[in-house]
Amino acid sequence: MFILLLGAPGSGKGTQGKILAERLGLPKITTGDILRAAVKSGTALGLEAKKFMDGGKLVPDTVILSLIKEELAKPEAAQGAIFDGFPRTAAQAALVDATLGERGQRLNHIVLLDVPEEELIRRMTGRAAQEGRSDDTPDAIKTRLQVYQRDTAPLVAHYAERGIVHRVPGIGAVDDIATEIKRVIGR
Ligand code: AMP
Repeated sequence: MFILLLGAPGSGKGTQGKILAERLGLPKITTGDILRAAVKSGTALGLEAKKFMDGGKLVPDTVILSLIKEELAKPEAAQGAIFDGFPRTAAQAALVDATLGERGQRLNHIVLLDVPEEELIRRMTGRAAQEGRSDDTPDAIKTRLQVYQRDTAPLVAHYAERGIVHRVPGIGAVDDIATEIKRVIGR
């Protein structure tokens, strides 16, 4: 089973993805975490990615597509995974669709976490104080929200055509949101 968590930055994809992955016994693939780790260890990927991440821009598809390919090819993702933070562009979605398709698989569910913009900003600003993420500055937050609307939100329509999008309100108690996700995906 392949499940994609979709939602704006700050919508709770990381938190809900972790709960879902543990409950279903599936690996969670998080491109943001992979990129942050690469930045921290100073690899070529990290050096390239950092330029975009700090400003809240997407790392270009030329860089991300090969990263996604590598992650999907890992044995632990052979039978299923939770995708957090990708696909984020039409090109990334096309790659995921094609790669799974070649294996006779597909994305089974898209969980769209719906959170009002004021709440997203409040959460990301709070996270900046706690975690010190370099892209939780006011300017980068603004850019990330715009980039989400422009590049990622259109994927909802792409997947909605297949009838696999579940819109889940992402406000309230973490446990209640997790219960609602469980209900909509039926497991
Ligand atoms: P996230 O933790 O998912 O919000 O990602 C943090 C940052 O990493 C984003 O603002 C992008 O700069 C970069 N990033 C993460 N995933 C992707 C992706 N799939 N495509 C392009 N950039 C990404």
